[in-house]
Amino acid sequence: MNYLSTRGHPDRKRFCEILLEGLAPDGGLYLPEAYPQVDTATLAKWRALPYAELAFEILSLYIDDIPAADLKAICAKTYTAEVFGTDEIVPLRELEDGVYLEALSNGPTLAFKDMAMQLLGNLFEYELARRGAELNILGATSGDTGSAAEYAMRGKKGVRVFMTSPDGRMSPFQQAQMFSLQDENIHNIAITGVFDDCQDIVKAVSNDLGFKRKYRIGTVNSINWARLLAQVVYYFAGYFQATASNDKPVSFTVPSGNFGNVCAGHVARMMGLPIQTLVVATNENDVLDEFFRTGVYRVRAAVDTHETSSPSMDISKASNFERFVFDLVGRDAAKLRKLFVDDLGLQGSFDLSADPAFKQAAERFGFKSGRSTHADRLATIRDTDKRFATLVDPHTADGLKAAREQLVPGVPMVVLETALPIKFAATLVEALGAEPARPKKFEGIEALPKRVVKLPADAEAVKAYIAENCD
Ligand SMILES: *Cc1c(COP(=O)(O)O)cnc(C)c1O
Repeated sequence: MNYLSTRGHPDRKRFCEILLEGLAPDGGLYLPEAYPQVDTATLAKWRALPYAELAFEILSLYIDDIPAADLKAICAKTYTAEVFGTDEIVPLRELEDGVYLEALSNGPTLAFKDMAMQLLGNLFEYELARRGAELNILGATSGDTGSAAEYAMRGKKGVRVFMTSPDGRMSPFQQAQMFSLQDENIHNIAITGVFDDCQDIVKAVSNDLGFKRKYRIGTVNSINWARLLAQVVYYFAGYFQATASNDKPVSFTVPSGNFGNVCAGHVARMMGLPIQTLVVATNENDVLDEFFRTGVYRVRAAVDTHETSSPSMDISKASNFERFVFDLVGRDAAKLRKLFVDDLGLQGSFDLSADPAFKQAAERFGFKSGRSTHADRLATIRDTDKRFATLVDPHTADGLKAAREQLVPGVPMVVLETALPIKFAATLVEALGAEPARPKKFEGIEALPKRVVKLPADAEAVKAYIAENCD
């Protein structure tokens, strides 16, 4: 399997070459040259497999530069009941007639990012050992991504994590989750500033090519192809649990921010999994909902990006969206470049409303969308508690609302549960007047000793800290 860039760079790469990379050299995103096709006989075989073996079968179609026995061992080591809480790994439960919740948030940090990041940690350790190399992961987080990365990389050989976060701005629970890690290879850096300051620092350090090379700086952001690929697996696992045979269509609703999660659903559908509709659920930051309604993709400025009660969906642009648009325009790299380089670069938007391709988003690729507000979120949390005695987190609530708007009788609708309610306790308290129950292993974590350094919002200070802690 070879990978290409959405922006038309002539080079082709193998999986392990792009594993540790971010963007392609021309600024595009990596995609497989073609999506492997899965026929009904294969689906029938896969239906009976445990999650780790299903993961191995799917990953094998995209990874041909890791020996099969090694890849199988990596999957077996990653997807265990010990790490994800159940033998099913992603158990499905019916909430109401035809609406299901797929539990993706029972990993170490209680959000779905663990599903991909835990695999990435094991793949990184494997590939770095094979190359005799080291990697220093530098990141910026306002919550979920940073903790998922730290829990995936803790104790891994050859990898250090330097994670910046805005000092005092994460929830006490999120801070405790990250700062209580005592592993030597995990470095928490609280920056005096806001999340944008952290992101600017990561950009400034990565743009210093000499420093980047010398200290082998890498990232684990959501454009990483291996993360997206790992997420394809749970669409298959959800499909098999929602159906009794492989001729039935199923729809999925996905609480979305950077379009990574739902793009994995698009890949599963392109492989031939019978997905009828992919519903993109957004919050008040509705750049994606706007596109699927109107054909206009209009990136927001920082001042127009709202801080909401589903904060992991607060985006100004959706960094994985380019992957889908590449397929939408028939994999025409010149057309893609015009949209993402010329139009977005010049005017901050592009308009496909009059282009025949736009109609294909719904008709050929099965996309629909929806949008929620804070009031919708609270109402959905209350209603779901009252009618089904089930607590959902604010992001999953955004999904449920959009899902109900797109229900079709006879077609199961699977809503992806992207976090557990305890991570966003303040909004649960606002909706219900009480804190959600906390899993036993997280009791009292706020009182644990914290391992964190405070630094000013200054890239040079962060560089000096990395240099000091790299031997
Ligand atoms: C990251 C995240 C999302 C958004 O996922 P994308 O892949 O960026 O679209 C939604 N909900 C939660 C809880 C998250 O952590």
